[in-house]
Amino acid sequence: MNIYDSVIIGGGPAGLSAGIYVARTGLQAILLEKSILGGQAITTDTIENYPGFPEPVSGFEVISLMEKQVRRHNLPIEQKGVKSVEYQKESDSYTLTLLNGEILSARTLIIATGACPIKLDVPGEKKFAGRGVSYCATCDGPLFREKEIMVVGGGNSALEETMFLSRFAKKVTIIHRRDALRGDKILQERVFQNPKIDFLWNSIVKEIKGNTQVREIIIYNKKEDSTSVHKADGLFVYIGTKPNTDWLNNMVQADKQGFLITDEKLSTSLPGLFAAGDCRQKALRQIVTAASDGALAGMMVYHYLQEKKFDNSHLGS
Ligand code: NAP
Repeated sequence: MNIYDSVIIGGGPAGLSAGIYVARTGLQAILLEKSILGGQAITTDTIENYPGFPEPVSGFEVISLMEKQVRRHNLPIEQKGVKSVEYQKESDSYTLTLLNGEILSARTLIIATGACPIKLDVPGEKKFAGRGVSYCATCDGPLFREKEIMVVGGGNSALEETMFLSRFAKKVTIIHRRDALRGDKILQERVFQNPKIDFLWNSIVKEIKGNTQVREIIIYNKKEDSTSVHKADGLFVYIGTKPNTDWLNNMVQADKQGFLITDEKLSTSLPGLFAAGDCRQKALRQIVTAASDGALAGMMVYHYLQEKKFDNSHLGS
């Protein structure tokens, strides 16, 4: 069976950036993405802090350019998901079982599977997902023209997406569990100044109710110890993210939430297995830090293979 020098798992900014670096070193590699390229970044409406783009740009535009760059370096990209991975000690390699049953073999892996939204875990959330409950304003916002909607969370995602939703909705109410927002000051100023945006402080969602669509949100105010019913056509949830690492089945050292633990070279607890982007434990999860991780992981894979006594004649020196 063909053994890849490296398999990059995940096609968000970290995986795509790793792809550029890995391809440029001449490694025999492949990038696997189980759905569409771009990860969470592709659903971001406006990016204002990715260097090189002085004007606001959409996640879709940034990802399209990254993809174009990867393809220019001839890295194969396949739409395939990985089911499980096994480390083979004798051959110092990895065996990957894909969701379609295919088996691949690789000397190194770059895990760049990103993170996904944390759910509220309240009654009605599952029932109304896609029927008023959403985790993606860019995808679903335009469906709420002139409607009254609510957003849960006080971080950057909640504030940015609330601003986006206010373009369509009649009114957007931010429900936050404390009395101060977590998001950046610049975003806080924007939401406070927007006449369409309202706030429910010290509040948590208890239940989501409706018929075929969301109609009411039951909210508990911690300070006043009272429960109230609020009419709403939709509820957008932005209460943080969790890493897409369950599929690794604890084979790699991770923190309590499942974020992979890496050293400064992005090595994990297994040899030749590197992690990049939002799926690893880190202080700042942004497109720019994901791209930086990808670059570093790509180069570390190259150095790792150079130091090993594999047949690296195709790599040059
Ligand atoms: P986050 O910063 O972790 O914020 C999560 C928010 O949800 C917090 O306000 C938190 O409340 C609240 N929350 C958490 N669990 C909750 C629960 N069970 N019920 C109700 N509320 C809950 O997450 P994020 O906004 O998704 O951002 C993730 C990372 O991406 C951050 O590092 C952020 O800076 C970054 N990001 C940056 C940008 C940008 O720079 N433009 C845009 C988007 C995201 P507390 O405040 O009380 O903890």
